[in-house]
Amino acid sequence: MIYDVAIVGAGIVGLSHALAAARRGWRVVVVDRDERAVGASIRNFGFVTVTGQQAGATWERAMRSRDVWDEIAGPAGIPILQSGLIVVARRPEAERVLAAFCATPMGRDCVLLTGAAQVRQRWPFLRGEVTAALWSPHERRVESREAIPRLAAWLALRHGVEFRWRTAVHAVDAAGVSTSAGPIAARHTIVCPGDDLSTLCADRLAAHGVRRSKLQMLRLRPKTPFLLPSPVMTDLSLTRYLGYAELPEAAPLRERLRREQAAHLAAGVHLIVVQSADGSLVVGDTHVYGTTLDPFADASYDALVLEELHAVLPDLDYEISERWIGTYASLDDRPVLVDAPAENLRLVVVTSGTGASTAFAIAEQTLAGLQV
Ligand SMILES: Cc1cc2nc3c(=O)[nH]c(=O)nc-3n(C[C@H](O)[C@H](O)[C@H](O)COP(=O)(O)OP(=O)(O)OC[C@H]3O[C@@H](n4cnc5c(N)ncnc54)[C@H](O)[C@@H]3O)c2cc1C
Repeated sequence: MIYDVAIVGAGIVGLSHALAAARRGWRVVVVDRDERAVGASIRNFGFVTVTGQQAGATWERAMRSRDVWDEIAGPAGIPILQSGLIVVARRPEAERVLAAFCATPMGRDCVLLTGAAQVRQRWPFLRGEVTAALWSPHERRVESREAIPRLAAWLALRHGVEFRWRTAVHAVDAAGVSTSAGPIAARHTIVCPGDDLSTLCADRLAAHGVRRSKLQMLRLRPKTPFLLPSPVMTDLSLTRYLGYAELPEAAPLRERLRREQAAHLAAGVHLIVVQSADGSLVVGDTHVYGTTLDPFADASYDALVLEELHAVLPDLDYEISERWIGTYASLDDRPVLVDAPAENLRLVVVTSGTGASTAFAIAEQTLAGLQV
């Protein structure tokens, strides 16, 4: 049997390519070394973020990917747990960034609420120091640790995608892939290895300068019922997400944060809070960069994340029920690496921590260039 495409990696990037190929009627096999996906795709917030993505191709890919999540969520049995995004401005400089963002085409459907009274009237749970807040309607939130296995199961059942779990791919060539369970013949191979920089296409990954980013995450269980109507971010996100950070208005905010939150900036901390079906909150995150990263979670980094959380939710009473680390591939100069080391081989690595938000559209673009 010769498959039309063999896909290495069953994270969101590999599964997105499997979906795009299956929708074209291709015979698809997905190969993953683990018995289920345990990489970045199940460790993330499950936050499909549109507002804040870099203007241009990334924002457009996020919009398209959000639409694909909406299309498949019902059929694949993946609940959309939250929609939209609240970006809280704690400083006038942040408010000015949000106002400038709203004036761009990307801000068209967003709403800026100004003044603490107006913000609290709409979202009474926000109790800290608030000068304004942006509402974006575009986002979706899924529980990744459930969504990714369900997506794989639905691709197998509904689209006939074959999965080879616990099968490591050692090499790729024009005939297909060599695996720990023998060769698999395929007309095309798409390598979606996440942050494995040393097994497949290692020379290409090194030549492009791909490295890793390590993130620390927390799950909090509120001790009394607490409803987070939509995911929340704050000022710190406005200097990380390029859709805001590339606006000229971000420079004064960055200056002020350097004076007031230098430790947060040094640890790559910004705040994202999302809520799960059981009421628990997934909270993060931090960023440390390198090629080989130590596996240790720094408690002082978690404390910085929680400090930012307490700035907007000072009354929240909770216990910490989980802590974990995730890593993703990272490049400073582009959000995704799509390389073609050979005519029938593609290497696709999301290098900006936005795979849940952009992978469906990236996959459609990859497949558009291939024929069987
Ligand atoms: C903590 C954290 C929070 C994040 N939050 C968000 C968010 O809210 N929104 C968002 O859009 N993005 C977020 N991201 C980024 C997003 O999770 C990643 O961009 C995305 O998951 C990358 O998907 P992937 O399929 O490339 O990698 P992975 O999910 O890591 O999957 C790669 C797969 O390839 C397999 N593999 C690799 N090499 C081989 C081989 N040789 N043979 C067989 N199998 C192989 C691995 O076993 C693995 O299953 C976050 C990331 C982290 C770490």
